[in-house]
Amino acid sequence: NTKKKILQHKIRVFCRLRPMNRNEAGQGGTAFVEKIDDYSVSVETPRGLREFQFDKVFGAEASQDEVFQDTSLIQSVIDGYNVCIFAYGQTGSGKTFTMVGDKDQRNPGIMPRSFNAIFDITRENSSKFEFKQVSAYMLELYNDRLQDLFISQAAEAQAQTQPSSQTRRVEIKRTRKGVVFAQGAETKEASSAQELYALFQQACANRHIAATMNVESSRSHLIVVIMVESRNLTNGSISTGKLSLVDLAGSERAAKTGAKDHQLKEANSINKSLSALGDVISALSADLPHVPYRNSKLTQYATRVKAITNNAQRNVESKEIAQLKEVIMKLKSGLTVDD
Ligand code: ADP
Ligand code: MG
Repeated sequence: NTKKKILQHKIRVFCRLRPMNRNEAGQGGTAFVEKIDDYSVSVETPRGLREFQFDKVFGAEASQDEVFQDTSLIQSVIDGYNVCIFAYGQTGSGKTFTMVGDKDQRNPGIMPRSFNAIFDITRENSSKFEFKQVSAYMLELYNDRLQDLFISQAAEAQAQTQPSSQTRRVEIKRTRKGVVFAQGAETKEASSAQELYALFQQACANRHIAATMNVESSRSHLIVVIMVESRNLTNGSISTGKLSLVDLAGSERAAKTGAKDHQLKEANSINKSLSALGDVISALSADLPHVPYRNSKLTQYATRVKAITNNAQRNVESKEIAQLKEVIMKLKSGLTVDD
């Protein structure tokens, strides 16, 4: 029973280890994170070996399909839930590989696989639901500014040179019912997985820095949101599920990279948004009455997480919350570059 499972367990933390690359292997490198079993890893730290628990650990041999099958909640989106999947880690750890795939898309990641699954599952459910619309918006959060990736850089630059035309800004807004949305973001409909993928490619082409330039693209967050609206044929009710897929900027710190000037500004805004994300997750897992969503655009965006807080008090037992907090604290302290 998928629904029941989701209610019991609202935040899941997965760990994926990537294989050593040729360079690392060539230099005689050894892995400092080792998989112990499907639920735990050991990490070499300056203070010795430490063990961390996860909902699931994927070793270097895990395939893209395996990761997708175990992490994605497409059925829940079709059922009208809001689902958010994001990849966190330092540059080079495999976030883009996991979320998007490799450069030539011979090994597609969670995003393209989700596009297919959404349409496959809607087809399978067509006797129970009438699918009204699948639509998407795609954004880049760069230097604390949200960029609509459906608008080309050229069009944006041109709009800025014409004082009469107003450049459209994407802002995070909240409706009276508490639904958070990206105001001003262009939403496009897709009637097939291929169309959705074409929109995604268009969005990637409009990023500040090409996604293929790994180090560069690691300085912005990529946000892909897909909404699925359907009508239940039994009771006529209409529901909209939302799938947010996020490839976060690299988690490394400014001091480590020796960044200067505009690089420092970038690093600061990345650190600000990622530490705001950490604060939100800590507050949620500690069941604090106030969750600081508004400290950054990245977290303001977290509708799914907001829903979790409301239910956390009712549905999740304090033991689970304590466990979750422990995992998050460990994740934060144990798997960063500095430790
Ligand atoms: P990040 O987005 O976290 O900076 P990438 O996803 O770009 O890191 O990964 C860095 C490099 O490692 C890329 O060349 C990528 O193709 C490769 N890589 C990452 N994860 C895997 C994996 N599980 N299997 C094979 N290659 C991987
Ligand atoms: Mg990347």
